[in-house]
Amino acid sequence: MRIDNRKNDEKRPIRVTNNYLMHPQGSVLIETGNTKVICTAFVEEETARHLKGSGQGWVTAEYSMLPASTMTRKKRDKGGKQDGRSVEIQRLIGRALRSVVNMQELGERTIWIDCDVIQADGGTRTASITGAFIAMVEAMKWLKSEGLIETIPITGYVSAISVGVIDGEPMLDLCYEEDSRAIVDMNVIMNDKGEYIEIQGTGEERPFSKEELNQLLALGEKGCKELNQVQMEIVNGEG
Ligand code: UDP
Repeated sequence: MRIDNRKNDEKRPIRVTNNYLMHPQGSVLIETGNTKVICTAFVEEETARHLKGSGQGWVTAEYSMLPASTMTRKKRDKGGKQDGRSVEIQRLIGRALRSVVNMQELGERTIWIDCDVIQADGGTRTASITGAFIAMVEAMKWLKSEGLIETIPITGYVSAISVGVIDGEPMLDLCYEEDSRAIVDMNVIMNDKGEYIEIQGTGEERPFSKEELNQLLALGEKGCKELNQVQMEIVNGEG
C-alpha cells in the first residue's frame, strides 16, 4: 500500500491553473499532488547569440526552489550561484522543450522559461517540464495573436513523470517519501506520439534489470499519455 493509497500505476492528482500571473505571456501553476511549481514563459525579441542571423529562435529554461519549498529551509542562490542539481534540472527542462520546437518557425526570438518550485514533494523536474510546456505554448499563442508568427511552432506535446522501484515494486509518480527510499529512480520524458525525449534512470541502491526497465518505461508511458491529455485540454481551451 502506498502512503497516499494510490495504485502502483496511478499518478498523483494534477491541477493546472493557466494564466496564473499577469506579466509573462505564458504562466501556469502546476500541482502534482503536493508538488507545486510556477512555470512562466517570457518572450524576448532576440535569439541566442550563436543563432543571430540564422533565422532561428531559441528556448531556454531556469529552475529554482524557494527557501520554504522544502522541509528544511533551502538557502537562496546568492550572487547568481546555483547548485549543481538546479543547473542539471534547468538544462533538462530546456532540452526537453527544444526537442519539439521548430526554431525556424519561431523566428529570431527567445522564449525564456522559468520554473520556480514553491512546494517540493518529489517530481519537481517532471512537473516543471509538463507545466513549462503549457506556458511555452501559451506564449506561442500570444505571438500568433500578435501576428508575429503564423503557426504554433511545435511538433508535439511534451510531458514528464517519475517512476521508480520501491520495496521491489515498480511505481508511477513518486512523492518524496517514495523517492527517498527508491531502489531505482527514473524520470521519463515523452511526446504525444509515445516517443522518448529523455530518460534519466539510476540504480540508486542496486543495478536494475532490463525487465524492470521495461516495466518502468511502460508505467512512464501511461503517465505521460495521461499528462498529454491534460495539456491538450488546456492549450486547446477545453480545460
Ligand atoms: N529535495 C529537497 N531539497 C533539495 C532537493 C530535493 O527537499 O535540496 C526533495 C524534494 O521534495 C524533491 C525530492 O527531494 O522533490 C526529490 O529530489 P530530486 O533531486 O530527485 O528531484 P525531483 O524529484 O524533485 O525532480
